[in-house]
Amino acid sequence: MDYLKAKILSDGVVKKGNVLKVDSFLNHQMDVRLYNEIGKEFYRLFGDCNVTKILTIEASGIGIACVTAQSFNYCPVVFAKKSKTSNVSDSVYTSQVESFTHGNVNTVIVSKEYIKPEDRILIIDDFLANGAALTGLIDIVNQAGATVVGAGIVIEKGFQDGGKKLREKGYRIESLAIIDSMNDETGEIVFRD
Ligand code: 5GP
Repeated sequence: MDYLKAKILSDGVVKKGNVLKVDSFLNHQMDVRLYNEIGKEFYRLFGDCNVTKILTIEASGIGIACVTAQSFNYCPVVFAKKSKTSNVSDSVYTSQVESFTHGNVNTVIVSKEYIKPEDRILIIDDFLANGAALTGLIDIVNQAGATVVGAGIVIEKGFQDGGKKLREKGYRIESLAIIDSMNDETGEIVFRD
């Protein structure tokens, strides 16, 4: 994923608090050529896993997941909704997710209709940091009795421990770019090989 890494280096902005801003191609304006490359790469990695559905979380994961689904024979994409109220009905799976970028806790919900025990789920997200979002999505798949085939992440911040913790639990996590360090004063970003 040389194009992804080049885009991160040329257009990514390192903010205070270990936040990488990639609004110009991933999180606000979207580089669809890059999305297409990302989708094909996730297919190369997970194409033989009999994926029946892709699960992501609103908002930034949705576009990536939809483009990726085209490579997976147009499988359905389900996105977990961030609910403002904890007062949710019996017909949904819920999990608590602490937001890395906003610092609050969201109850995320997925209707029970859309994940069934026979589903083989590929989870897709834009970033992996402390692993809260991914842990919440895995929790929802487990509540449904479905199978997590793995997670496809666009950018993993390898200096935060979410990826390490989840890999140690046995989950297959494939990140297209792993950042080993970044510096908000110099703007330097170092990738893992
Ligand atoms: P985690 O739950 O793993 O701590 O963080 C992952 C979630 O937080 C992702 O869904 C992503 O939206 C957001 N996130 C975490 N770190 C960053 C970052 O450095 N930049 C941006 N743009 N989003 C991030």
